[in-house]
Order: sequence, then C-alpha cells, then structure tokens
Amino acid sequence: GFNMLEKLGHTISQPNPSIVPLTTDEEWVHSLAGSTLSFMTIRFIQNGKVKVKKTGKILFTHFGISGPLILNSAHEVKKMLASGDVTASIDMFPDTEENELERRILNLFDKNKNKLTKNVLPEILPSSFTETILTLPDINLSEREVNSITKAQRKKLVKKIKNLTFEITGTLGFDKAVVADGGVILKEVNFKNMTSKLYPNLYLLGDILNINRPSGGFSLQLCWTTGWVAGSDMGEK
Ligand SMILES: Cc1cc2nc3c(=O)[nH]c(=O)nc-3n(C[C@H](O)[C@H](O)[C@H](O)COP(=O)(O)OP(=O)(O)OC[C@H]3O[C@@H](n4cnc5c(N)ncnc54)[C@H](O)[C@@H]3O)c2cc1C
Repeated sequence: GFNMLEKLGHTISQPNPSIVPLTTDEEWVHSLAGSTLSFMTIRFIQNGKVKVKKTGKILFTHFGISGPLILNSAHEVKKMLASGDVTASIDMFPDTEENELERRILNLFDKNKNKLTKNVLPEILPSSFTETILTLPDINLSEREVNSITKAQRKKLVKKIKNLTFEITGTLGFDKAVVADGGVILKEVNFKNMTSKLYPNLYLLGDILNINRPSGGFSLQLCWTTGWVAGSDMGEK
C-alpha cells in the first residue's frame, strides 16, 4: 500500500514497528517466560540517564519482555536504541524505600535463621523470581542457610531486588508488532472526509496514516472512525 501511494506522489514517513515486545539476550529473563510482575517500575536507561520510566505490569517471555506497559514503551525505547545501548532496570518494590525493604528482609531472616534462603524469600517475592534472583552469578545465595548470609550480601540482595538490570537488544520486529508507526504524512490528507489532497476520490484510512498511538484500542478506533467518516462522504457523493 505504501509503495503504491508513494508512486502516486504521496509522502510516506517510513514505518517502524511501534507497539512491539522488547528483546534481551539475558538468559535469566528468558527463564522467567510466562511469569508476570503485577506491580513494578521499569526504567530504560541510556548513558546513565533514565529516559523512560513506567509503573505497572510486566510479562516475561522466552525472548524478553512484553505486556501492555512494555508495548507502550517500545516506541521510545526503539528511538533510544538507535542512538546507543539501553539498559532496563526493574524495581520490584517501587513503593518501598531501600532501607524499609532491608528492614523487612532482616525481620524475615531473623525468624528463619536456619532455613535455606530459597525457602524463605518467597514470603516477600513471587516464587518464580526468588530462584532466578538468588542464582544470579553476583548473588548466588540460593543454597545458603540464612544464618550464613553476611550483611554485605544482604545489602547486595536488597539492591538487586530494587535494581534488576538487563540490556535491551531490540524489538521483535514487524512480524510481531501490533502496529507500526509511519504512513502517509498528515498534511496530505483532508480530515473532513479522509480523502487524499492529491486525489479527491482516494480515501486514506487507519494504518495508512502517519499517526502514532499507544495500545488500548486506539488503532481500531482510528480505523473505525476514519472508515466511518470516509463511508459517510462516499454516501453523500
Ligand atoms: C496481533 C495484533 C493485535 C492487535 N490488537 C489490537 C488491539 O487490541 N486494539 C487495537 O486497537 N488495535 C489492535 N491491532 C491493530 C489493529 O488491528 C489495526 O490497527 C487495524 O486493523 C488497522 O485497520 P486498517 O483497516 O487500517 O488496516 P487492515 O486491518 O490491515 O486492513 C487492510 C486490508 O487491506 C488489504 N490489502 C492490503 N494491500 C492490498 C492491496 N494491494 N489490494 C487489496 N487489498 C489490500 C489487507 O489484506 C487488509 O485486509 C492489532 C494488530 C495486530 C497485528
């Protein structure tokens, strides 16, 4: 469609996957496939600066991360990737300060001194995440009894739960994108009846238009609304 329109003289802003899952090479992320975190904050960081920050639900997959929150971050993250490396940082307790989380973990450890850490932590963390976090190479506390954990190791664990990082490598691309941005530039469209300003009998609707939108029904709304306006115009002509 875009090729045909370009040949007809329309200007096309080149499409890019927009609402699309994000990928990472980190195997611990892949190992969580099917797990969700219902309330967390994710930050996308570049050159030490937080450029995107969102709070909500995240879905882990065999290739990376997805779910509405991630799909709606993908447009900005893709732009970041075009200018360098992007690190994702998940805070699993966005409403709890680091000191407070440490106090909670300390209380938990005090009550369960002789148990294995991996059997204790699920009291405050989703169990699928407990094993993953405890077996990360820089944590490595899964098979340790709580009483053998040093203060430094405990602090490191708290920091990890508040700042679980991994590199974003890209997006799943057009095949898995819900929508792409790009399309016919809007100054070439007559929005009163959705016709082309170059060809009064050519209607330009829905995904053909260069309108970037988040997930949540906005794309279907766009194609229905523009379709209704065009259909009404055709009926009148
Ligand atoms: C997996 C997935 C999930 C989605 N979920 C949602 C959602 O939950 N909410 C939401 O709002 N949006 C969602 N979308 C996006 C939404 O479906 C689209 O934005 C919407 O369908 C676009 O409608 P359209 O009529 O503009 O284009 P399309 O639905 O793509 O229709 C274009 C039609 O033109 C035909 N066509 C193409 N070229 C030619 C040609 N040369 N000659 C003749 N016919 C041609 C195509 O076969 C197609 O039937 C989703 C999309 C995908 C892929």
